[in-house]
Amino acid sequence: MAKLSRVEIGSFDPQRFGGVLAPERYQEFIQIVDTASSFFEGRVVWNVNSTAKGGGVAEMLRSLLAYAHGAGVDARWIVIEGDPDFFRITKRIHNHLHGSPGDGGSLADEEHNSYCATLDPNAEELAKLVSPGDVVILHDPQTAGLTKAMKEAGAIVIWRCHVGLDIPNDLARNAWRFLAPHVREADAHVFSRQGFVWEGLQPEKTWIIPPSIDAFSPKNQDLKDETVAAILAAAGISAEETHTRAEYTREDGSPGVVKSKTVFADGGAPPPFDRPIVTQVSRWDRLKDPLGVIEGFARYVAPVSNAHLVVAGPSVEAVADDPEGAEVLREARAAWDSLDDSIKGRVHLACLPMEDGEENAAIVNALQRRSDVVVQKSLAEGFGLTVAEAMWKARPVVASRIGGIQDQIVDGKTGVLVDGTDLEAYGSAVVSLLEDPVGAEKIGVEAQNRVRDEFLGPRHLLQYFKLISKLMLG
Ligand code: UDP
Repeated sequence: MAKLSRVEIGSFDPQRFGGVLAPERYQEFIQIVDTASSFFEGRVVWNVNSTAKGGGVAEMLRSLLAYAHGAGVDARWIVIEGDPDFFRITKRIHNHLHGSPGDGGSLADEEHNSYCATLDPNAEELAKLVSPGDVVILHDPQTAGLTKAMKEAGAIVIWRCHVGLDIPNDLARNAWRFLAPHVREADAHVFSRQGFVWEGLQPEKTWIIPPSIDAFSPKNQDLKDETVAAILAAAGISAEETHTRAEYTREDGSPGVVKSKTVFADGGAPPPFDRPIVTQVSRWDRLKDPLGVIEGFARYVAPVSNAHLVVAGPSVEAVADDPEGAEVLREARAAWDSLDDSIKGRVHLACLPMEDGEENAAIVNALQRRSDVVVQKSLAEGFGLTVAEAMWKARPVVASRIGGIQDQIVDGKTGVLVDGTDLEAYGSAVVSLLEDPVGAEKIGVEAQNRVRDEFLGPRHLLQYFKLISKLMLG
């Protein structure tokens, strides 16, 4: 028997976007919002994934589903249960879908049997909750194997793939073969960009919906400079003294105060915040290339600037479906150990507290806002929410020319794109921005405009609404 968990969802007022979006876009959004509750009357919109915290999918669900609630839609979020063996296999699938070998293991019959053996009891439990006519949105490889059972339960089933790669290789195709028999049974397949669509899926069932961020969440809400400083000090990321409260607004509108401390895996002191700060925020994952971020900084940025690098990620015990996190953090620490002594003090490996997701988000928010340059030097990336988050804060971003990052950054205008494997290109792009604060600020302003127009929740919700209404109306 699997133990499904139901994640509590808040309720956000969609009218909040009145002050943010361009008037025509807001009008289009609010017209749909006004009809949504009668349109979805009597149906539940189930979202199913494998973790309630950590990573981009959980981040988006928390916010989009709360706006759906605010619009009167009965949207629910279920997290499936899996053991370490299941997550080892699904992490491997995730890596293969990104074209990378991950732990080097195979995806053959044995793994498929084990994958199904974990999902079958989850499917059985979920089928007891789902009624005919409900909508079930299954997120990512971890839940693909639930498709058939959900169809049998009479639901409209959408499989939403959040990962992909620009040029598929054999590893990716093999992962597609592993999952395709499951996802083919879905009524629609959603990918983040056209280039990620798998070969062999029916084009008429395929939809492109890029991700989005929530402008009002603790991760992205506006913070005054003194609050940014206070949050960083309270979280132990800066040693600066402040007399302001480290306060942010929680999702339910109540005030939250940052109290938990960051642990520096390098064992060193926090960065001095009177220096330029270059930051990458991401899970401890090889595809985010923390080692390359450190090495490129040490070789090409540190010698010609007085900047400090903060490589920040979650405290590793916190993210249940990411067994490689602790290993990658150890590798980052080893990379730090091998740095020249003169550079060690300028590279900081920050493990952010995760006990309270909203507090963690407020810390990420403050760190991104305080950064002079934000980096996302991934080797593979579905979308890269961290890029949109930093752009929304009008930060100049240097990021790899891959995946959905290319949809966000117009090179030279709303950020800078580099070859993620070229450490020198990454380093010199960072240095150029550090040396040209006026140009960097201009890029930041353009970046914010782009996110406002393309990557906020209303655009995302409208696209889901159009997809679901098409499926419901046949
Ligand atoms: N994130 C976070 N705390 C951390 C590290 C990451 O809140 O310590 C968030 C980050 O801000 C972003 C999400 O996790 O919202 C990561 O999404 P992204 O699309 O960048 O990458 P993914 O983890 O989905 O591969």
